[in-house]
Amino acid sequence: MALFGNKNRNTENDYSEALAKLQSVSEEFTFGTLNDEEAVRMELMAEADEEGLFNALKDGLSKTRDNIARGIDDLFSGHSSIDDDFYEELEELLIMGDVGVNATESIIDELKKRVKEEHIKEPIECRKILIDSIRRQMDVGENEYSFENERTVMIVIGVNGVGKTTSIGKLAWKYRARGKKVMIAAADTFRAAAGDQLLEWAKRADVPMIGGKEGADPSSVVFDAVNSFKAKNGDILLIDTAGRLHNKKNLMEELKKMNRIIDRELSGIHRENFIVLDGTTGQNALVQAREFNETADLTGIILTKMDGTAKGGIAIAVQSELKVPVKYIGVGEKIQDLQKFDAEKFVSAIFDADTEENYE
Ligand code: GDP
Repeated sequence: MALFGNKNRNTENDYSEALAKLQSVSEEFTFGTLNDEEAVRMELMAEADEEGLFNALKDGLSKTRDNIARGIDDLFSGHSSIDDDFYEELEELLIMGDVGVNATESIIDELKKRVKEEHIKEPIECRKILIDSIRRQMDVGENEYSFENERTVMIVIGVNGVGKTTSIGKLAWKYRARGKKVMIAAADTFRAAAGDQLLEWAKRADVPMIGGKEGADPSSVVFDAVNSFKAKNGDILLIDTAGRLHNKKNLMEELKKMNRIIDRELSGIHRENFIVLDGTTGQNALVQAREFNETADLTGIILTKMDGTAKGGIAIAVQSELKVPVKYIGVGEKIQDLQKFDAEKFVSAIFDADTEENYE
């Protein structure tokens, strides 16, 4: 495993730069004291270690690979011609692999079109087209991450247990390790434990957190956080919200109130609305995403627990159905276990194609 495997990056320079920024930030902004320089170094090295990240992803998705790719490979090698049976079996495999009805339909439609246009006769030739089509459907442009370098307020929603707290902690850490002034607002005042857990993550990430008492108006927490963020000239404000879906109207009202405060106090600031989904729950995650998307104008998805799930195909389903990109994936319980979503790597990890040449 090459720690400095990527020739295009100079990790030592990245490290010195981020550390210098961090140290200037920490004097006026940190929650605690920054005493974990080694951890910052580890984060930057981990980000630069593309081979290591890919291997972790590949290991994590091995069950998904067994669930989707193995069946598809058997189908390709077991059929001698591309006929209705072949398409039907492929459709079934994709749907069983949690790829979702919409995404499956568009993948099959594209496949049929190309088979016709390119006069393809051998089922095995469909493999490349299939992989290509999934990769294109999943592609997240770099523009989608431009907020990381802007002043941004990010509202994070999701039902309890999906990994919302953990993901907010990981994001705080990620941005902080890049020398950003990060602040967390604990606006899930519904459960006292939510604030306590988030505080643990804020401490770990070494970023300030503004919270409120159990039962306090979440908007008042947002108001305090926004003002503190403004006064301290923060870069990224992460707002945790209560994960209640059963009362959509309340959630909608709550989000509206929060949005009004942000618009008034931080007018013109970049906004992101993220939903956190548990990748192990397959179609349930899709149902949640759909419902939340009716309430909030989602700009990104964080798919958690992608380490060890057989239902990783859900990444394809949510992105295709909601037209909202999966921007990050959780691949473990540690603070560094959050990766930017990379369609190329994701598809390679599922279809066992180590390099692009393998698609050819
Ligand atoms: P919340 O109720 O949505 O805030 O969920 P938590 O953040 O408390 O996470 C619930 C559980 O999921 C915890 O045990 C986390 O450690 C675990 N978890 C969160 N993200 C991941 C992940 O990416 N991988 C794994 N394996 N576990 C995760």
